[in-house]
Amino acid sequence: MAPTVRFNPEKFFRVFEDHLTAVRNMAEAMESIGDPRDVCVVKAMKAAEIYLQDILKAVESGKKFLWHEFLLLPELFMSFPGVQPYMSETLCGFLCLVEPEGLTPYIDSARNIGLPPDICPTDSGLLGCVLEEIQPPAHVIVSPTTPCDSALSAYQIIQKLMDVPVVYCDTPYWHDERGIELYERHIWKMIRQVEEILGVSMDWDKCREHIRMANESMELFYAEGEMRKLKPCPHPGKLPFYHFLFFEVASGTDYLLDVCKFILEDSRKLAAEKKGAVQDERIRLLLYNPDPVYDTGIHDWLEDEYKAVTAMTLFGHPTATFIDPSTPETIVRDYAWKMMNICMARQYRGPHEFFVDDMVAAIDGWDVDAVIVTAHIPCKHGQGAHGFIREACRERDKPLLVHEIDVQDPRPVSIDKTREAVAEFLETQVLPYK
Ligand code: SF4
Repeated sequence: MAPTVRFNPEKFFRVFEDHLTAVRNMAEAMESIGDPRDVCVVKAMKAAEIYLQDILKAVESGKKFLWHEFLLLPELFMSFPGVQPYMSETLCGFLCLVEPEGLTPYIDSARNIGLPPDICPTDSGLLGCVLEEIQPPAHVIVSPTTPCDSALSAYQIIQKLMDVPVVYCDTPYWHDERGIELYERHIWKMIRQVEEILGVSMDWDKCREHIRMANESMELFYAEGEMRKLKPCPHPGKLPFYHFLFFEVASGTDYLLDVCKFILEDSRKLAAEKKGAVQDERIRLLLYNPDPVYDTGIHDWLEDEYKAVTAMTLFGHPTATFIDPSTPETIVRDYAWKMMNICMARQYRGPHEFFVDDMVAAIDGWDVDAVIVTAHIPCKHGQGAHGFIREACRERDKPLLVHEIDVQDPRPVSIDKTREAVAEFLETQVLPYK
């Protein structure tokens, strides 16, 4: 079948170059405002510049592109010679981060060809970016079957539209030996298929280097998570989102490692000076579901208006495992296990206990006063967990706000409405009992 959607260099370069400028401008604006809470975010945005530049250079030099879904981290894909890994959902994250309605034209584009509105904007947005021909070329796409059917639907349509091979890795339901073995086999099959499709062979020595950098970055991420247990919490509530986002696009690179080192050093410096994002913390919050991507500033607002720091978030909660780089066998097996344990892949599959147990561990571990759950409207799996979440918070006597929003599209529930709901929650259910 001839592809309906092709690589369109003109549109791709226009969008990516504009986007690179927007990311640069955002970092410069933050630097000139000089809010100390932005220091690490600026560092992360500079890493985003490197990532975007790499994508632009790879297209210019005619490299082959391997798109990977966001729940397969890229450290494994950097060692296929001459191949550029690209997280398929890159624009879905970044577009609404720099401009609240940045992703909405693409969501609409997918809906206009009939994609139902209850498909996650991560996937409708991705399909829209494909339809509008603003993505880089794809020579092969790899995707797990997590986190949900939304992703599967979008990837199947993309496969047809672009006539590109999509290799699926079937993520197991359970967290057990049988599950790990199954996923390990699927990762091996995926590597073999990519080698065959692209006509390359994995360079395992190079792979070991990327795995070492990915491990070190993850160790630093864990250490930063520990620092967030301090009172005052050294870093602001918005940082974990940016921090984890860059693992999804750049895990295994030296520039992500550099960002992780910088964040931890800054945290230690602030802690030694007894400084925090909010000096006189009144409330410690847990946000356990995705942040509203178009309004990460909600955390600054919480800190300024209520002295409420989001001590931990779903994205910031370190749950991923490590990879033994000794042999290809250990790498593949541990990569499979790691991908079953990264944020979302771990909590959004299997029984609801997977989500609730992690949420409870975060409530206890970061000693929070209250919990906010962004009830992402199209997330059927997430919506199904609300009863369990309510029960767990009630048992622990933790006030809970379950607030419906679309985390990448501010049209169904506006930024103002969300802030009103959060304000009412804090004023009526948290502050009076402090
Ligand atoms: S937020 Fe929910 S609907 Fe969206 S990708 Fe994750 S699991 Fe799927």
